[in-house]
Amino acid sequence: MSIPTEPVGSLPRPMKLQEAIADYDAGKITKEDLKVEQDAACKDSIERMEATGAPIVSDGEQRASSFATYPLADTLAGTGLADNLAGDGQYFAIFTDGHHRQLPRLTGGPFRYKTYAADYLKEAVPMANKPLKQAVIAPSMLSLLYPLDGEIEGYTREEFLNDLVDECEKDIRLCFEVGAERVSIDFTEGRLACRNDPNNPWTGRKMLDSFVELNNRVLDRFSPEERKDIGIHTCPGGDCDSTHSADVDYAEMLPSMFKMNAGYFLIQLASEADKERVYKLCGEHSREDANGVPQVCFIGVINPLNPTVETPEQVRDDLVTAAKYIPVERLGSTDDCGFSPFSIDVKPKHGSPDVARDIAFQKIESRVKGTQMASEELGVA
Ligand SMILES: [Zn+2]
Repeated sequence: MSIPTEPVGSLPRPMKLQEAIADYDAGKITKEDLKVEQDAACKDSIERMEATGAPIVSDGEQRASSFATYPLADTLAGTGLADNLAGDGQYFAIFTDGHHRQLPRLTGGPFRYKTYAADYLKEAVPMANKPLKQAVIAPSMLSLLYPLDGEIEGYTREEFLNDLVDECEKDIRLCFEVGAERVSIDFTEGRLACRNDPNNPWTGRKMLDSFVELNNRVLDRFSPEERKDIGIHTCPGGDCDSTHSADVDYAEMLPSMFKMNAGYFLIQLASEADKERVYKLCGEHSREDANGVPQVCFIGVINPLNPTVETPEQVRDDLVTAAKYIPVERLGSTDDCGFSPFSIDVKPKHGSPDVARDIAFQKIESRVKGTQMASEELGVA
């Protein structure tokens, strides 16, 4: 069986769609008008991703406000915010270029998703001719909706976490019910949890192990057979061509990450300074048996923040090197991150989101070709 390859999920939203989102926020167009643009962007994303030869595709998350806020609000500006939330929550990330992204703040219970990932996925299914994957947000990220200190009157932290675990499980199950082949859980806050940034208080609270424990509460509700197709994505962030935690040593994070009982991991690696060292860490800490399922390491071979297109030969060489440390039957390839996890992203290093889309499809094609070349070289094609 050849080496599997899978995207993380998102693509830049076309400029036309980003403008439509702004018009919707300003009350100039209706939700139906916005949906016309979202439909067009999803259809284009799926068709062009399929044309790269990729064996599994996504809708590019074109309908999502962001990878983290899709259950909570229709747009990044907060239009259509779910019940029991206010707009002024904590920063979940401050990026190296100085910009930040903020979460809503929980004001009371119960906590319920307004939108499930499957609500978007079911619109993509009739548009696709290949299997679809869907990304969902980790409970650990949404746990930051609850104030860091103190308790909400009438809704304890424990009650909130119980509701959150139920909602995350439902989010994943619904994806499989409407036809997802694979579901990966975005866990960008894992590496950031080791950052200890005084400007972003939660990052200094050593929350990594509690994140892992919380995410396992969700994963443990699935059978080994189901968890084969449930993944975890780690990265140092990727927004406006900038990162939030690339300076955190993977050695601080990976041993904890692999304690999660997921069947596969999508690991940013193409943009690491010393890739071989991280391949070795993945080989050492990933488990042959995570409560009944082997952990497959999908290594990042494409950097979505850099407009230079990787060659298939570079992708092949990365995988061949990684196979020195990770058993080939537990090796896969992926992109370092989504190409635009947030809906509003001008992709400054690329010139425009439309140019960045063209580049993304070229990059995906290189990933697919290079992975096939590696499979041949490693004798598993
Ligand atoms: Zn990412």
